[in-house]
Amino acid sequence: MTVRVRFAPSPTGMFHVGGARSALQNWIFARQQGGVFVLRVEDTDAARNRPEWTEGILSALDWIGIARGSYEGPYFQSSYAAEHRAAAQRLHEGGRAYYCDCTREAVQARTGSQYAGYDGFCRDRGLPAGEGRALRFRTPDTGETMVVDLIRGEPTFENRLIEDFVIARGDGSPVFLLANVVDDMTMGITHVIRAEEHLPNTPKQQLLWDALGVKPPVWAHVPVVVNEKRQKLSKRRDKVALEAYRDEGYLAAAMRNYLMLLGWAPSGDREIVPWSVIEDEFRLEEVNPSPAFFDEKKLRAFNGDYIRALPVDEFVAACRPWLTGTDTIAPPPWQPAEFDEAAFAAVAPLAQTRIAVLSEIVPNVDFLFLASPSIEEAAWAKAMKEGAAELLDATVAAYEGLASWDAESLKATLEAVGAERGLKLGKAQAPVRVAVTGRTVGLPLFESLEVLGRERTLARLRAARLRLP
Ligand code: GLU
Repeated sequence: MTVRVRFAPSPTGMFHVGGARSALQNWIFARQQGGVFVLRVEDTDAARNRPEWTEGILSALDWIGIARGSYEGPYFQSSYAAEHRAAAQRLHEGGRAYYCDCTREAVQARTGSQYAGYDGFCRDRGLPAGEGRALRFRTPDTGETMVVDLIRGEPTFENRLIEDFVIARGDGSPVFLLANVVDDMTMGITHVIRAEEHLPNTPKQQLLWDALGVKPPVWAHVPVVVNEKRQKLSKRRDKVALEAYRDEGYLAAAMRNYLMLLGWAPSGDREIVPWSVIEDEFRLEEVNPSPAFFDEKKLRAFNGDYIRALPVDEFVAACRPWLTGTDTIAPPPWQPAEFDEAAFAAVAPLAQTRIAVLSEIVPNVDFLFLASPSIEEAAWAKAMKEGAAELLDATVAAYEGLASWDAESLKATLEAVGAERGLKLGKAQAPVRVAVTGRTVGLPLFESLEVLGRERTLARLRAARLRLP
């Protein structure tokens, strides 16, 4: 039997990092089993779906390494409405489902609680189909439903505690529980690997598989992803959109490696390993069933490691979207014509060791491409203390006469200017750095000045001097 797994996102918002993780787990599992990965877009919630979210899912999957064309699909749940309805009808005809006209209020009035669930009032009334009548599945009164879950063992649910749940609404449209099962059957899915939040649906869904006469899949419910307060990651509170990480300059390789480390680790106390090792070593059965902490700080540090490990030319290429802007990344603050590829390549190795996400490249190199540096007020106040004017005058004079405009000479010269005034290099550098780059921290100063060139450096030092009394 060929293993067939599916990833079944609903296109109702930005693509969640938790979804990306489930997708990767499905992807790897399929590869390990020589199986097939199916992408199914569950687009039946017409009120909440938008085509751009679907496109967002496809491109985010692409980015993370699940490339279009290398999987089966995408299928769209909305195209299978006839199958969903036929299954509902079959369940009704076989006596496994019945029509119900109870309002929520009526059920509450009878049970005395809004939490009690459905009380089975219409079970044996034999109501025919009709406008406003929901179709309910008749769950068994006795026995247990045991599901085989690769991560959770064999969770077992008492059937009498499972209410007669709705499978089609009053307007005849099948609900998620049924549509999802029918699609999995239609698509020959053998393993359902999905988020833990669906575990409560699983006994109901397995009952549907049984009632429809098809062998249920093996399940694997992967743990929820939580923030540092152990709260489930939520789009209102946390940064959860994969696209947001991509646009901030996380590398796909770092991101997918990190996602796989949530609740699992490769052998030998290693975290940063080639993707091929993860593909070989990952075992769904080894995923820790407890909630997994999505540690943004750790991810950032992780990404910095990946950035540093890139060959310089790849780093230069990876920075390009932030240096030019794209349809989702804001353009940099300089004029496109001012960008100088060679100047960037000269400082790129210096920046590569200093940034954790690629978007940080912009504030590190903007001084090279802006006509004049954008000087932060706080930086100016901090650096331009007493003596700064005189130090800038002396630096300009010394730099004007410099025979060779290279980092070493620039450093030695400023060191001498500082020493004459009893200043260590660090102190003497501060006003120069702010005058030239606008910031108090940044790339190594003298290499920066070398690349910026004599004329522009001197012009900026003079301009800063003029601002001082
Ligand atoms: N569309 C469902 C979701 O995004 C899929 C559930 C499942 O994987 O079975 O949560």
